[in-house]
Amino acid sequence: MIVRVPDIPAEGLSVTDTAALGSVYRDPAWRLLDVNVKFERDGSDVFVTGELRATVSQACGRCLEPSPAEVTATLDVRLVPRPATADNIELAPDDLDVDFYDRDEIDIGALIEAETTLALPMKPLCREGCLGLCRVCGGNRNVVQCECRERPPDPRLAALKDLASRLSH
Ligand SMILES: [Zn+2]
Ligand SMILES: [Zn+2]
Repeated sequence: MIVRVPDIPAEGLSVTDTAALGSVYRDPAWRLLDVNVKFERDGSDVFVTGELRATVSQACGRCLEPSPAEVTATLDVRLVPRPATADNIELAPDDLDVDFYDRDEIDIGALIEAETTLALPMKPLCREGCLGLCRVCGGNRNVVQCECRERPPDPRLAALKDLASRLSH
């Protein structure tokens, strides 16, 4: 859903209808549950505030299986027109919550996707106490109980074996 900046009314524009936004996420496993965002204009600056709730799916940080999670993001972003030349970007205010828009248009779906991505858990887990992958055979230890010894081979022993095999030739 594209909003044209000149069309944002003086009293602001509220977006609360997830259905009206259509599909905002490129990943079909992600779904927007709730959105309550307000766009307010001050000259060419647009202030975006509000919150959203979504279900997302990431690879578990231990076993790499898809791990669905619900995320809540609070939006507090200022959008300014993108400077005409790349050089000017460095002159942008030193503010993390400033973003750019192009050609008087704001893509609400892209904004929501970006804000959801920022709110993702840093270390997603499929469940509390996930056993992860076996470091020896790579098997998912939540699923298979492999016979591997936990400790990888002693590198000193490997060096000795290597030396022994070279001496025998
Ligand atoms: Zn896991
Ligand atoms: Zn194993």
